[in-house]
Amino acid sequence: MPVVFVAASKLPTPFATFTMNGFLEEENGREHVVLTLGDVSDGAPVLGRVHSECLTGDALFSQRCDCGSQLEAALRAIASQGRGVLLYLRQEGRGIGLMNKIRAYELQDGGADTVEANERLGFAADQRDYAICLPMLEHLGIRSLRLMTNNPRKVKALTDMGINVAERVPLHTGQNPHNKLYLATKAGKLGHMMGNEHQSEVDPA
Ligand SMILES: [Zn+2]
Repeated sequence: MPVVFVAASKLPTPFATFTMNGFLEEENGREHVVLTLGDVSDGAPVLGRVHSECLTGDALFSQRCDCGSQLEAALRAIASQGRGVLLYLRQEGRGIGLMNKIRAYELQDGGADTVEANERLGFAADQRDYAICLPMLEHLGIRSLRLMTNNPRKVKALTDMGINVAERVPLHTGQNPHNKLYLATKAGKLGHMMGNEHQSEVDPA
């Protein structure tokens, strides 16, 4: 998967001033952003988040999902450590795109859950692809992550492609009355760990 580094700049935010690295995925024109803070190339595991774009949650304050609050919690956690990485992957709506996400929401307004809606539109429940992460992490000299996620499948996907996940750090935030069903579906049908567990899952490999 050819991905080229384009440029890096400062990105001041309310939490910290990150370094913003731009990468272009040449075969499909997708433009990805990786924020880093501190020295991430010293070999020690880096607190990290792999976040897939969610325009409605990240930018429009949607309460249909928990993406916006997870993004903010991850940036705050990285800022509080003074070191970390956030990969912002441009794969909207679990990879189905923004218009199809709105179609899926329309079906959900009619009673379907998030998995049923995607399947009715002919998509797998989760079409996200994390292969792009490896070349971007390699470019930044990051060899090992303390990954902030509730999704064991994301840990497995990253581990399978050769990224060392030293620890899974749970992220519990953003529950509200509108996304109760969505979060329950993620827990029940997609295997997310939504309890209040705080254990670390250390990769034996
Ligand atoms: Zn979302």
